[in-house]
Amino acid sequence: MLAEDKRQKVLSILEETYGHTTTALEFKTDFQLLVATIMSAQSTDEQVNKITKPLFTDHPDAAAIAALPLPDLEDKIKRVGLYRNKAKNIHATARILLERHNGEVPRTREALEKLPGVGRKTANVVMSVAFGIPAIAVDTHVFRVSNRIGLADAKTERKTEDQLMANIPREQWAMAHHWLIWHGRKVCKAQNPQCDICMLKDYCRFYRSK
Ligand code: SF4
Repeated sequence: MLAEDKRQKVLSILEETYGHTTTALEFKTDFQLLVATIMSAQSTDEQVNKITKPLFTDHPDAAAIAALPLPDLEDKIKRVGLYRNKAKNIHATARILLERHNGEVPRTREALEKLPGVGRKTANVVMSVAFGIPAIAVDTHVFRVSNRIGLADAKTERKTEDQLMANIPREQWAMAHHWLIWHGRKVCKAQNPQCDICMLKDYCRFYRSK
């Protein structure tokens, strides 16, 4: 794990580079963010945006999605991976929101994680992006990049999340999640990290160990 002064330097470089950024998922409401995030598991944000654009135009809220017959919803999202399971979860979630939450997305982790298709990572994204509640969602990019750099030193996403929360000031949690994702997409790629052009290489544990 990096020493505190190096962690601070890494965070300030990430902030300088990626600034006030947010998710690449496109949405207009909390409900649409929830649906897009459920849909994004094991799919790229770009793929999801292509599907949600027409879906949200015709079916923008929980009532409209719940009113769709499940086979129709499956058909509308069939170009995303695992679409049958995702359609089932999104349909059930829309119904539960109508029945128990007046069609609104709940703000607590406990209520969010009771919705079908919503695990800790999705709940963290919705809490931080929709409601501004500090949380760090650890997806594949955040896990890989933070452990390479040395902001974390963990074998699981859950432990990585705990270590990031301990190592990053609370007010930076939400932004750090986005910075690490963008850095993972643009520079610290899974197969071929571009260390030679990386602005973090002087501090990165992975680079210094090579
Ligand atoms: S130096 Fe390499 S491994 Fe480290 S953050 Fe940059 S790209 Fe990733």
